[in-house]
Amino acid sequence: MREEEIARERMDLLFEEAKEAAPEDQDLADRYVSLARRIGMSYNISLPKEFSRRICSECGSFLVPGENCRVRLDSDGSKKVVTCGSCGNVERFPYED
Ligand SMILES: [Zn+2]
Repeated sequence: MREEEIARERMDLLFEEAKEAAPEDQDLADRYVSLARRIGMSYNISLPKEFSRRICSECGSFLVPGENCRVRLDSDGSKKVVTCGSCGNVERFPYED
């Protein structure tokens, strides 16, 4: 297996762990997420869409709707607006899921 594939697999696992840990242990979840981001950076792998939308690009928090972030729809309903509860950063994602 190529190193890059191993790295991808490790990132996937870390995100699974983060999902398990949050929201009970937010610190642990954030730690898993920062590890996954670091792996991604060193191998130049961008985060899968599913994950990048659950991480605050500003402070790196693992976002759990209703726990540490607020999710609402844009006025025209085409975008999801996510407000990070840790740093207040606002992200907009196309509404497709
Ligand atoms: Zn944040």
